[in-house]
Amino acid sequence: MSLSLSNQSSARVAPQWHENINNDFFAEDRDTTTILVSGLTMAHDLFVQVGLKGIGYKIKALDCPDTDALQYGKEFGNRGQCNPTYFTVGNLVKYLCELRDKEGLTSQEIVDRHVFLTAGACGPCRFGMYVTEYRKALRDAGFEGFRVILFDFNKGMSQATGKEVGLKMDREFYITLAKAIFAGDVLNASMYRIRPYEVVAGATNKALDECKEAIMEALSEKKSILKALYRCRKILQKVEVDRTIVKPKVSVIGEFWAMTTEGDGNYHLQKFLEKEGAEVDVQLIANWILYSIWQGRVDTETRAGLKAMDANARKGLKTTNIFKKKAILKIAELALKGTFYSFAKAIGLKNYHLPNMEENAKLAKQHYNPELRGGEGHMEVGKLIQNVIHKKAHMVISVKPFGCMPSSGVSDGVQSIVTEKYPEAIFLPIETTGDGAVNVYSRIQMMLFKAKKVAEKEYQEILAQKGLTIDQVKEKIAKDAALKKATYYSPHEVAGTAANFLIEAA
Ligand code: SF4
Repeated sequence: MSLSLSNQSSARVAPQWHENINNDFFAEDRDTTTILVSGLTMAHDLFVQVGLKGIGYKIKALDCPDTDALQYGKEFGNRGQCNPTYFTVGNLVKYLCELRDKEGLTSQEIVDRHVFLTAGACGPCRFGMYVTEYRKALRDAGFEGFRVILFDFNKGMSQATGKEVGLKMDREFYITLAKAIFAGDVLNASMYRIRPYEVVAGATNKALDECKEAIMEALSEKKSILKALYRCRKILQKVEVDRTIVKPKVSVIGEFWAMTTEGDGNYHLQKFLEKEGAEVDVQLIANWILYSIWQGRVDTETRAGLKAMDANARKGLKTTNIFKKKAILKIAELALKGTFYSFAKAIGLKNYHLPNMEENAKLAKQHYNPELRGGEGHMEVGKLIQNVIHKKAHMVISVKPFGCMPSSGVSDGVQSIVTEKYPEAIFLPIETTGDGAVNVYSRIQMMLFKAKKVAEKEYQEILAQKGLTIDQVKEKIAKDAALKKATYYSPHEVAGTAANFLIEAA
């Protein structure tokens, strides 16, 4: 019983823990290794899968994470993670467990024949620890040594072995990825504009399936993506729509994964809103890339003055040509916008504008310092203000995952000041825990009631201003073939689609 003091203190010293990282994936493994991807919308994941298959990889997009995936995440993940971590980590573990338990592969076969590709960052929120979380959960679930690969520019050769790497993140890889992402963006944006106004229920989804086939064919057979999108335009135009129906437009913002997913991770929010009679305005992946470019430019400008002082810092710019770096970022921004708008034009996504990041940061800065990073950073604040002052939506929902530090601070904290300053804003932050759907739905229904009233009032006022009746508007539309097309979208004047349509028809 009598431990000496020195014995007691030495008993407390635990050996330093080092993570065993296995990222060995070489060109010779390509034929036998399946790359698993997931994390965006269903259309994006599908196009990424087909696109990368087209350039020679064995690839599989995981299903959209569901409540079962959440349970796997909670069982094998660390305590106190944010909801998206549990969903996404659990989704991978669930898939591998199914391979083992239902398809009879051994754990070693699964580890040897699969790698998981994901995005990574240095934080400062839990996003910086995702990759470690994946590895921890996989280890505890019996898949020790499973390879989790981060997006990273590389020269095509492993520095450690001199062998050609399995996943060459080269020009062809990024061009294919860009095509898949922007095709997914313009298809999703078109879908959310058309479906709420379809005359025959289910017609938009049917057209979408045809569009997906056309895009997948172009990606897998390396055919022109613009031609495929033009084919999609023709398919979508056949959907019969009635844009005189007044619907509240609801902008969905918030944490990136939680607002993007289309499943249990946000209680099928987009589907629920449409069922309740709303038009949904979603955030595209292009917006996030624009935000990353904006961050790069601002950080470069800020750090440029520290050149001599931060020589040893990880992001130090001592040896960097600032002018060249800024020029590259500008070219990247122009290339993104050019590609996006040409895709949008091909599919018939009229009058769609990517967000103005400068304005967003300027507006947000009054309430939230754009230098604070993590989650959506200042973007959520800027988006709410932009929605209100530019009359872009009748209502704004912020999806705030349970356990998310950045989202809680912004959606519950800063946005209270914003809504006080802009009392006309109909703003609803919803928390996604995975098991609170009924509560969330009822809160949305209450706020949506207000938004419906606002949309109706806006429409009636314009009708009165223009001195028209609804029948007269319908008569005008009947005579104009262009206005009847499903892909037609009037220029933005006010929030409501029907009201904008009315302004133009008048
Ligand atoms: S933003 Fe929030 S939900 Fe997303 S990874 Fe960071 S902590 Fe998690």
